[in-house]
Amino acid sequence: MSGARRAIYPGSFDPVTFGHMDIIRRAAASFDDVVVAVLRNTNKAPLFSAEERREMLEEAIAEAGLGNVRVSGFEGLLVDFARNVEAKVVLRGLRAVSDFEYELQMALLNRRLAPEVETIFLVPGEDVSFISSRLVREIARLGGDVSSLVPACASARLARRLGAPSGGNE
Ligand code: ADP
Repeated sequence: MSGARRAIYPGSFDPVTFGHMDIIRRAAASFDDVVVAVLRNTNKAPLFSAEERREMLEEAIAEAGLGNVRVSGFEGLLVDFARNVEAKVVLRGLRAVSDFEYELQMALLNRRLAPEVETIFLVPGEDVSFISSRLVREIARLGGDVSSLVPACASARLARRLGAPSGGNE
């Protein structure tokens, strides 16, 4: 396949949330195939290893029945990864105006590095647009129930890692 309808969705996913899953569902419906790209080395020390973050995404994607989505790790330049997997589209989610400045800068920088790669922004449902991995980690750390914010596999792992309630089913 030429890769024209393949999109990558990069991020830290520390851990995957229902916000990410909303974007992944929309992406799967709009592109032939989607590669969720888990950034191995983030600036901040992640709570979960890259392997754990991948496993949680894989479980959540399988559970959602999204057959045209796969998960891959990556490090280094995003545009190099896009070229390696022959994707011409990078997807990002826009939650609020606060995301915009950083995302615009990244999109323009990536365009300078790889003009053939287009960044496309997807808008999540308003019921999940307030969710962020950072706040989920914080709530879990403080013992709050995150089961309405993240897939079951992620709340179970948060519970094991931080001793928060998992909300039941795992
Ligand atoms: P990064 O460290 O690259 O921002 P994240 O895992 O935090 O990685 O986010 C990955 C992508 O998902 C980003 O484009 C981010 O804006 C988007 N995203 C995160 N949470 C949500 C949400 N609740 N709704 C929509 N998009 C989201």
